[in-house]
Amino acid sequence: MDILACPMCRNFPLRLIVFRRESRYSVNEAMKCELYCSYHDGMIEQLKETKCVECYSYEIMDGLLICKRCGRWYAIIDEIPIMLPDNFRDRKREKEFIERWGDKIPPEVLKTASMD
Ligand SMILES: [Zn+2]
Ligand SMILES: [Zn+2]
Repeated sequence: MDILACPMCRNFPLRLIVFRRESRYSVNEAMKCELYCSYHDGMIEQLKETKCVECYSYEIMDGLLICKRCGRWYAIIDEIPIMLPDNFRDRKREKEFIERWGDKIPPEVLKTASMD
């Protein structure tokens, strides 16, 4: 998760909102996010405490990635982040995603999602 950048404006890191996650079976205590920790929402070098065991003990099944710079958002569906530029976005699939998670989606995302 800590390597994803916005495909449109190249901003990094992206804000992560998790809707559904699953526990993993085994976690190595020494595992750490490399540059940016989405669980702690901060750059690793600026964080006082990094319990990245938490990050690695869950698999994100469904969620949302939000670019703080350009305001675009990207769905995570069945573990796969859909990081596509504007002209390749699947509006129908996005609509289904929005309907599925409804009130868990921040208002600013709902606003841009209903643009067309
Ligand atoms: Zn982490
Ligand atoms: Zn962006």
